[in-house]
Formats: sequence, C-alpha cells, structure tokens
Amino acid sequence: MDQITKHLSRKNICEEIKPGASSLIIFGASGDLTFRKLIPSIYTLFKKNLLPNEFFLLGVARSKFTEEEYRQEIKNRLLEENEDNFIISKFIEKVFYISGFYDDDSLYLDLKNKLNYLDKVFNTHENHLFYLSTPPNVYLEIIKRLGKFNLTKESENSYSRIIIEKPFGSNFNTSKELDEELHKYLNETQIYRIDHYLGKETVQNIMMLRFANIVFEPIWNYKYIDNVQITVAETLGVEHRAGYFEQAGLLRDMFQNHMMQLLTLVAMEPPASLEDTSVRDEKTKLLKAIRPFEKEKINEYFVRGQYIEGMINGKEVPAYKEEKNVNPDSFVETFVAAKFLIDNWRWSGVPFYLRAGKRLKRKVTEIAIIFKDVPHSIFAKNDITLEKNALILNIQPDEGFSLKIQAKQPGSKLCLNTLTMDFNYDEFFKFKGPDAYERLLLDAMLGDQTLFVRSDAMEISWKIFTPVLEKWEEEKHNGLRLYKAGTWGPKESFELLSKDNRSWR
Ligand code: NDP
Repeated sequence: MDQITKHLSRKNICEEIKPGASSLIIFGASGDLTFRKLIPSIYTLFKKNLLPNEFFLLGVARSKFTEEEYRQEIKNRLLEENEDNFIISKFIEKVFYISGFYDDDSLYLDLKNKLNYLDKVFNTHENHLFYLSTPPNVYLEIIKRLGKFNLTKESENSYSRIIIEKPFGSNFNTSKELDEELHKYLNETQIYRIDHYLGKETVQNIMMLRFANIVFEPIWNYKYIDNVQITVAETLGVEHRAGYFEQAGLLRDMFQNHMMQLLTLVAMEPPASLEDTSVRDEKTKLLKAIRPFEKEKINEYFVRGQYIEGMINGKEVPAYKEEKNVNPDSFVETFVAAKFLIDNWRWSGVPFYLRAGKRLKRKVTEIAIIFKDVPHSIFAKNDITLEKNALILNIQPDEGFSLKIQAKQPGSKLCLNTLTMDFNYDEFFKFKGPDAYERLLLDAMLGDQTLFVRSDAMEISWKIFTPVLEKWEEEKHNGLRLYKAGTWGPKESFELLSKDNRSWR
C-alpha cells in the first residue's frame, strides 16, 4: 500500500496543473445546470487554488439580475451547502453578470465591452472560455453573434473556446447542420463538446486499468471475453426535465453519448499516447467498426420500454405518462436494451449488451466484462457449471472495481465458490476525486480536449442511432414494452440475452 501511495504521489503524474489566465463566460447563467453544477465546480476549483489567479466568471442570461443580486444568489446557494462565508466572499469578487436576449446584437455589444473591461482588470489576456448552458435551440443564435462580434477569433496570445452541452442535435442531419454552422465560426480545436461521463474518475480509470497494467490487455479480446455488459440504471424518473425528455427519449439522452463513450473506452485499441488526438483517433476507429443496424432488423437488436406505476424504495411512483408535463399518450422510451457487435479482429463475435433506463430497481452504472469458461474444466462434473470470471467496473454509486473468480470454499474437497475481490475508490484512497464538471472545466481552460467529444465521433454515433430513431418514430406505440417502476425493465430485455444463452449478470 505504501508503495502504491508513494508511486501515485509522484509529482509529474499526480499534481494538477493550474491553467494560465482565463475567463469563463456562461450563457444560460440563470439555469439549473449553472447553479447546480457549474458554479459549485468553479467555486471548488477556486477553493482548491486550481483556478488561475487571473480569472473572472461572467454570467449571461435573459433574467434581470443586477450584478449584486446575481452574486447574492450564488452566495446563498453556496451557504446552503455549508461553504465558508469568507471563501465565498473572495470568490464572488470574481463574478459578474449581464442580461439581454440571445438573439439581440446589443447583448453582444455589452458583452464585448464588459470583456474588454474585465480582461484589463483581471489581466486575463483576452482568453475566453464560453459555456453554452442554454437550451440547444439557442446555441446557433449565440455562436453566430459571437462570430459576428469577433469573439470567436483567436490570436497568437489569446484563445476563444466554446463548451457545448448535450444534446448536440437530435439526429444525424440536425447534428451535422449544427456542426457545419459551428465550423463557420470556429475550428474544431476551439469546440469542446461536453459529455460529463468522461469527467468521472472511474471512467478515466478504464484507460489506466487497461493500458497501465500488463495483466488485462492480453486477455482483452474475443479469445477470452464472452460478452460485455454496460448498465446505466436510475431510480429517478424525469423529475423537472419532462419537457426535454419528451423531445429526447432515452436513446438520445443516454445511448448516443454517454453509453457510446463507455463502450469506446472499453473496446478501443491502445492509443499511441495520452495526447488528445491519439485517444480520440482510437475512439473514432472503434465507433466506425460498430456493425450498423439494418432498419428491418432493429427489433432483433433493440428493446425499448416505458415505465408504468410501481414501487421505488418502498414508495409508490406514478407511470411515466402520468408525470407532470408528459403527454398522456406518449410513446417516448424510458428504457432501452441493445446488442452491439464490433466488426474488428479484437471483438469478432463478442456481443456488447447495453441497457439504460429510468425508474429501475437500483441506481447503478457499471461495465461488466464477462470472461469465457475455462477450456477444459476438471471441476464441472455432474452438470455443475462454474460461474464465469467477471471484471466489474463500478462507475456509480460505489466507484471502484471488482473481480469475480472461482476459489475453493472450506469444506468438501471439490467445493468451489465465487470469490469477489473488491476495490473501492473512496475506501482505498480516502480522498474524493474532483467532480466531473471540475475536471472538464479545468481541462478546457488547459486546452486539453481528450475528455471532450470530437466532431467525427459524434457524427458516427448519430449515424448508428438515426435508423433506430426513425424506425421507432414510424412504429410509435407498436413495440414499446411496458415495465413496472422498480424492476429491471421489460422481460424482452432478458430475452435479448437468453436467446444467445446468456443473462444479465
Ligand atoms: P434550463 O432550462 O435551466 O435553461 C438554462 C437557461 O437558459 C435558463 O435559465 C434560461 O435563462 C435560458 N432559457 C431557458 N429557456 C429558454 C428559451 N426557450 N430561450 C432562450 N433562453 C432560454 O437548462 P439547464 O440549465 O437544465 O441546461 C442547460 C443545458 O445543459 C441544456 O442544453 C441541457 O440539455 C444541458 N444539460 C443539462 C443538465 C442538467 O442537469 N440540468 C444535464 C446535462 C445537460 P434566461 O431565461 O435567464 O435567459
């Protein structure tokens, strides 16, 4: 253990790099994401002394806060989280706000003047990191005007970067249109498409686990792996985001982005280096190798479900259709299970089963690598089959991983049992890693795009799912499977695996 701690504390690997002078300009600064995630993350970076000394935060939105009111709002929210009054006071000295309409040129004139002023006061060298945290239909308005007012221009000594929240389009065509518009004003190196899953410590650990250890990579292929299962289960319903979810549905909300990112990290080839281009090249290569879904065969590979009323943690919850702001005749899916095949040498014939859903039995995000049986078992006699070895990467809520192996159980000579070797991040390191948004905001200020989604990867991912979305749009209620809240989804999800003689772990 001491050895490990000593090794990990090596300065060059483990110390966070503090970015150079930077500013953060948030559009949609009065919204849920800003107050719940962005401001607390920026505040925490400030508290940890990871923000540059030359830094300011400028909120932009339609809501008519005065600067003082906006600061007070932030202060109140941070105090509610029991943060320190003195540190908050220091932090909000760096916070500013302007209001206006996103499609009104005068907002951008105000913005430009304000930035000129703040850049001088805080010595931020015109380094601007814009964060689009508005509903997606406003993105283009903002980007066009940032372009028009020369705020997307970079110079040798200053940068202009834009972080864009999901959803990035709603199908292949709309995402391509949005991307083409973006590229009229910005280079790809300026665009940071955020997928907060990539900021999670355990998601980043997938790369460390795979490529910093010799023990896993030799068996990480079709010869030894029987199947891979990725589960992202929530107990929550749509909460206050029904309006968005009714438009998006679960496939767009979870599969096209987060689940594909998890899949690529598990399945991609080792990158030549940790450089963002290297890593993102491998991800794109992997996405290209995913076998496309033929429209006629989609129902063989996908199960879509919607929850009806049921019990979650001992409490009755209503059906999706009865939730506030949901169309009572909605055929929007709240659950998806799917089987993917990857047409390359490494993964030939290995199915990747993915499932995600709302109002499921337990909140869990995990990747299970299920290994093949031993080639000849001297133990599996009298019809006793051994449980397969499995490596489980736990993303949430208990971050870590566990390895399931067979071992002798005390007792009779041949008594075997499954032994689970557990590693829990929090217990081992006794130190909580940064929140995903902290990591990603820091990386964007550092100009590191590794954990952001590149244009080509996004495009391929939409290409994979657009036929599925089209098919479901045509079929409407037909083929939508109902499942009780508080279960693991519709029975068809289990059949998806049982017809391959497999089961969810
Ligand atoms: P909100 O709905 O809270 O909107 C953010 C702000 O945008 C609002 O405060 C409002 O500010 C402005 N706004 C809202 N509707 C409109 C409109 N029709 N036209 C112009 N401006 C509008 O969104 P969130 O904060 O929840 O999310 C922001 C972005 O992040 C979205 O793209 C969302 O999909 C994405 N996202 C959000 C997550 C979350 O947990 N909230 C998680 C992952 C992604 P004002 O009226 O003051 O201008």
